[in-house]
Amino acid sequence: MDSRFIHSIHSSRYDYKTENESSSGDEERSSKYSFVSALCMSGGEGDNSYSTNSLLQRRALAKAKPVLVKNIKELMMGLSFPKYIKVADLGCSSGQNTFLAMSEIINTINVLCQKWNQNPPEIDCCLNDLPNNDFNTTFKFIHSFKEKNLTCKAPYFVSGVPGSFYSRLFPRTSLHLVHSSYGLHWLSKVPEGLEKNKMSVYITASSPLSAYKAYLKQFQRDFTTFLKLRSEEMVSNGRMVLTFIGRNNMDNPLHRDCCHFWTLLSKSLHDLVVEGLVSASKVDSFYMPFYDPSKEEVKEIVGIEGSFEIKDLEAHEYDLGHCNQDGSKRSKSGKNEANYIRAVSEPLLVAHFGNAIISRLFNKFAHHVSQHAGCRNKTTVSLVVSLTRK
Ligand code: SAH
Repeated sequence: MDSRFIHSIHSSRYDYKTENESSSGDEERSSKYSFVSALCMSGGEGDNSYSTNSLLQRRALAKAKPVLVKNIKELMMGLSFPKYIKVADLGCSSGQNTFLAMSEIINTINVLCQKWNQNPPEIDCCLNDLPNNDFNTTFKFIHSFKEKNLTCKAPYFVSGVPGSFYSRLFPRTSLHLVHSSYGLHWLSKVPEGLEKNKMSVYITASSPLSAYKAYLKQFQRDFTTFLKLRSEEMVSNGRMVLTFIGRNNMDNPLHRDCCHFWTLLSKSLHDLVVEGLVSASKVDSFYMPFYDPSKEEVKEIVGIEGSFEIKDLEAHEYDLGHCNQDGSKRSKSGKNEANYIRAVSEPLLVAHFGNAIISRLFNKFAHHVSQHAGCRNKTTVSLVVSLTRK
């Protein structure tokens, strides 16, 4: 890696504070980006909802399955088949994906108990997300979840836990297994110091290096807070399996694929500025509370925080499932990707720009995606990391 770009995280040493402790100065500054409080996925089950547009995240769950199963086995053996297991899915969102994950967990525990001739434990399934999340849409899938698990001998109990995973959510030493998929790339706030990053909602190749440093620093603070809080909540030898968007370590930390979704969103917003529908200053004050770390960045934070040991750390292809298509397929894939990105960003965009521009914005987005149909995501990946509580 080019030494110019090495931003030692030791220098910041995480002057982090948990959300509850953050200073009033922090709060004042973060009100500049008040749209962040609208962060959640699009609710309901309509055409533009997260529930309807989360196939990409379902593929990520499928890819992380071997790591999840392996860690559940090791957890059960390590804890000598406990009578009670408390599992949390952090960032469960609205829709059925969380139940796919929970089914996997319950089944794995059940099969393992049969194999080793052990009584299955009672399983407490806690589904967490931010209070704005549409939990009702999630809970509607409980019937199909129960039908799917009819033959499962382990009794299980489902509950919702509203709150930020950057705050304490569970009593001390109560959790055995933490699962989180596609939640941890969301930051608690927009970093300070992005003012020079003009007309881009995130890091792009033309961003100043200060933008990378600002985003990395915020991720260091947030992920450290997350680890510290979970270390308080988890039992010794408990496991976490976390999947989130990351990036392959390129020499230049500003490098993002030309077809990166936030780059295409910036271009689409720029189109609306040219058409006079949005002011440039409005675009200049909007940034995504998002970060895609490299494996190395994740390893370093876990090492410094110190409560967990990494068991697995894998990078999987970021799979939008539309590469190298042509003709009508190309425009269909543009529309599909526009729907995925709309479902995860619409509440944030509406909070800052209002409702009126959204459909037009994502028509532009679909067009930009179709222009990149031949591209493959080389930098963006899904990172899967499993950790054991020391
Ligand atoms: N795990 C689901 C949902 C992923 S979408 C799946 O695999 O399909 C990411 C979810 O993380 C969103 O619902 C979002 O509201 C939630 N999220 C983001 N930041 C969060 C935070 N600080 N605390 C709790 N949930 C958060």
